[in-house]
Amino acid sequence: MILRRLFFVFNIIAVLMLLVQGGYFQIGQAASPVILEGTFNILWGDGTAGSGQTRTSYFLSTTQHDAIQLVFSEDSLTSMSGPMSLNQKAVIVQGTWLVAGTFLQVQSIALDHGVSASPQAVIGSQSWVSIMCKFADVAGEPRNLAYFQGMYSANYPGLDHFWRENSYAIVNLEGSGAFGWYSLPHVRAYYLPGGNLDWWTAAADCTAAANSSVDFTPYVGINLMFNADLDCCAWGGTWYACLDGICKNWRTTWEPPWGYENTGVIAHETGHGFGLPHSSGDYGAVYDNQWDVMSDFWSNIYRGGYDLTYGTLGQHIISYHKDILGWIDPAQMFIAEVGTISNITLERIASPQTTNYLGARVLIDGSPAHFFTVEARRFAGYDSWLPGEAVIIHEVVLGRAEPAHVVDVDGNGNTGDEGAMWRPGETFISSANGIEVKVDSATPTGFVVTIRNHYTQMTAVEITGAEQGNIVDSIPFTATVSPSNATVPITYTWEATDLPPVIQIGDMVDHVEFTWDEIGTKAITVTASNAGGMVVGNHLIEIENTLPIVTLSGPSRSNVGDVNVFTATVFPVDVPQPITYTWQASGQLPVTHTSGLIDTINYVWEDPGTQVITVTAKNVHASTADTISLPVRMPPDNVQVSGPEIGNVQDSYTFTATINPITTTVPITYVWTIDEQLNITHTAGVSDTLTYNWDYPGLHQVSVSASNLAGSVDDTWSITVYIKVLLPISLRN
Ligand SMILES: [Zn+2]
Repeated sequence: MILRRLFFVFNIIAVLMLLVQGGYFQIGQAASPVILEGTFNILWGDGTAGSGQTRTSYFLSTTQHDAIQLVFSEDSLTSMSGPMSLNQKAVIVQGTWLVAGTFLQVQSIALDHGVSASPQAVIGSQSWVSIMCKFADVAGEPRNLAYFQGMYSANYPGLDHFWRENSYAIVNLEGSGAFGWYSLPHVRAYYLPGGNLDWWTAAADCTAAANSSVDFTPYVGINLMFNADLDCCAWGGTWYACLDGICKNWRTTWEPPWGYENTGVIAHETGHGFGLPHSSGDYGAVYDNQWDVMSDFWSNIYRGGYDLTYGTLGQHIISYHKDILGWIDPAQMFIAEVGTISNITLERIASPQTTNYLGARVLIDGSPAHFFTVEARRFAGYDSWLPGEAVIIHEVVLGRAEPAHVVDVDGNGNTGDEGAMWRPGETFISSANGIEVKVDSATPTGFVVTIRNHYTQMTAVEITGAEQGNIVDSIPFTATVSPSNATVPITYTWEATDLPPVIQIGDMVDHVEFTWDEIGTKAITVTASNAGGMVVGNHLIEIENTLPIVTLSGPSRSNVGDVNVFTATVFPVDVPQPITYTWQASGQLPVTHTSGLIDTINYVWEDPGTQVITVTAKNVHASTADTISLPVRMPPDNVQVSGPEIGNVQDSYTFTATINPITTTVPITYVWTIDEQLNITHTAGVSDTLTYNWDYPGLHQVSVSASNLAGSVDDTWSITVYIKVLLPISLRN
C-alpha cells in the first residue's frame, strides 16, 4: 500500500513520459518479467464542463491481485489495434512490475485464446447502486438520499428512462438503488495522493463503509458519489472488486458533486460502465461531438437539455455506439458495400416510429474496421436539444482511442453547425474514398439518403467483333463498358439470334464466342448491369455457308471387272477451297485427293457384292460426307445342259442346266426351249432341271438360255426318242 501511494506521488504522467522517452522507472526490487492472465479494463476520466481534461487508465484484473494498473504508451496500444478491442476482454499480459501487484509496465498484451475482439452486447436488466460517501474532513451532503434514488427513476429524466429510450427498451435500470451518506475513514487528500484519484482506496473504503447495510449482489454497477471534488475528473468504466462474496468486474463510476448534479455526467459515466468509449470531432479534442452523450453533453444546457433538479441532461448515443452494444437489430443497420449505390430511408435513432434503418455503415474500401456511419437525428426524446435536425455522419476507425469522429467539413471546430449537418439536397463527398451520401428528402421522422460507395454509373457498352462470319465457326465478340472506372462487378447477359443466352460476371471487358449452324443475319445484344443500373449494346453479323456440302454420284450397277467412275461434287460454288477428298470403299484402300469443287475416282471390284463408297470433303472450316452403295454382279460364263442321249416316247427324262462359275450372281432366269417351240421359264440358282416326255419319235432339241442382270448364256442338248417295241413275254428278261 505504501509503495502504491508512493507511486502516486510520482505523478503518473511523469512516469509515462519517462517510459515514452525510453527511460526506466522502478520502485522496489529488480524487475523480472511476469506473465499475467486477466480481464482488461478501461477507466475514463472526464473533466468538468469546459475543462477539456481527459484521462484514460488501463487495468488488468486477476484473481490473484486487485486491479493492476497497466502502464504503456498510447503508441503501443494503437499498434495492438486499439484499447477498445481489449476492453472487458480476457487478455494475457507480459510485463515487469513497477510496483509489485499494482503497477505493471507492459511489454506485450494480447487477447486470450478464443476471445472475440467485438464488444459485448449489453442487454436486459442493468441495476446500479449509488453509494454516497463523505470524506472525513468534508461535512457537506450536497444532495439527499431521495435525490439519488430519484436519479434512477423510470420517468423523465431518470436514468432508467434515459437508457430505456436509448436502447429501445433492450436495457433497463430497474431495481437500482441509492444508499448513504457513509463516512470515509480518511480525509479527502488521502484519496488523492499526488493530486490523482486513488481508485483502489476510494472504491474499497466507500463500499466498505456501506457494506454492512448494502447487499451488492443484485447490482451490475456501482456509482460512488463523493461529497467533494476528486481529481480533475469524474471517472467511469469497469473495476474489479469482491463484494458480498462476488468477485467480478463491476461497472463502476467515481463521481464528484458536479457529476451527480448533472445526470448527463452520470449518463456519460454509466455509458463508460457499459463499455462505451468516447466519440469526438476531428479537432484533437475529446468532448466536442455535440451529437453524442459520450462526448459533448455539456452544450445541451444551451438548447434546453437541462432539468431544474438533475441539471444538464444527456442526448442519445450515436448509432455506432448503439450498434456495438447490440441495441440495433442487424436488419436495421444497412451495410453499404464497395461498388454499390443504395437508396434507403433512415429512421431517427431517438424514439423511432418506423422499422426503417437506424443507421448505415459505408465500408471504406470494404474494410470492417474503417467506415462511415450515417444516421438520422431529429428532435425527439433526449435528442430534443440537438443542435439541429439532420443526417449526421461519423468516420469510425476501430483502432483509435475514440473510434467515431463526427464529420464536420467546415473545419471551424463547431460540430453543431451546418458543417456537420447534412440536410435535404446536400451531399457529403469523400473523394479520397469514393463515397457520397446525398440527403434526398426528409420523412416525418427521418431522412431518405442515397449512398454511393465507389459507385460509378455505366454510360454505355459497345460490342466489337466481326461483321461477317462463317457457319460452324466459333466467332469471338467483346463487350467494353464505359467509362473505364465504372463500378464492378458487372454482369453481362449476351443474347444472340438462334442461340441460348450467356450470362457472365466480369469487370470492364467481357468476351464471348458464338457459333451458328445456319446462315443469315444474326443480332447480338449484350446487357451490362451493375449495382446501380444497366446499359445495352447491339451488333449484327452476317453468317455465310462455308460448309463444303459434298454429293457423290456414280453408276447404279456394275459387274465384276468393270471400271466404275465416281464423282464427288461440292456446293456451294463459293465455298472456301482447297478441298480435301477422302475416298473410302469396300475392299479398296483409302485414297486422298486435294482439289477443287469436283473430284473423281475409279474403282474396279473383282468380287461381286454390294459395295459401299464414301467420300469426305473437308476445307479449312468443316467437312461433310456422302455415301452411296453399288451392287457389283458376276455374269454367267457359260451354261451346260446334260441329260440322256436316247429315250422312248412317253417316258420322262430329266435335263440339268449348270451355270459356271458358281459365283455367278443369282437369281438366274432359265428359259428352256423344247424343239424350238415350247418355252418354259424357271428362276433358280446356279443350276436348274427340266423333266419332259415326247409323244413322237425322232431327234429332239433341249435348249436353255440362262441369264442374270449381268449377262446371258445358252446351250443345247439333243436326244433321240424311239418307238417302244413290245417284245414277247418270253423275250423279256
Ligand atoms: Zn468520458
